[in-house]
Amino acid sequence: MSEADKTLQSLFKLADKVGKRRYSRLTLQDFQEYRKFDVWRYINGKSECGITEESREWVRDNSESHCPICGERFSRHHKKTIDHKLPRAQYPWLSLDFRNLWVICYQCNQEKGERHWYEYEHYIFNQYPDRYEDIRFARPRQLLRSLKAE
Ligand SMILES: [Zn+2]
Repeated sequence: MSEADKTLQSLFKLADKVGKRRYSRLTLQDFQEYRKFDVWRYINGKSECGITEESREWVRDNSESHCPICGERFSRHHKKTIDHKLPRAQYPWLSLDFRNLWVICYQCNQEKGERHWYEYEHYIFNQYPDRYEDIRFARPRQLLRSLKAE
């Protein structure tokens, strides 16, 4: 079975497994396995958002016509990208947690970078106060609570 054929269910299972062990306890083997599944959400930055049919479908089902941050209509100039609300560099086990994903435009994704969510809210509050309410609404509350519980 090719990676692209893996079902979403198996992705969830792996994400759970990785999540339970947490980053610091992952073995190299775990990490390689985890990276294999990363193809699901890969962004090639050129013409299409995902490289697998499943991820494209997910993007279609989980995006509006406009970017939820800047409000620009998605287009060739404002391409759709899948962003991790909590950056995967800091929370790799949330990389495949769908509660952590949202579709935003390429420009907003670049600008958001690897900021932690609260840092990002703070940034928006200072730079684009008129966008703040929307960003606060998009806050991944459940995930942030789950971090505190550790
Ligand atoms: Zn945008």
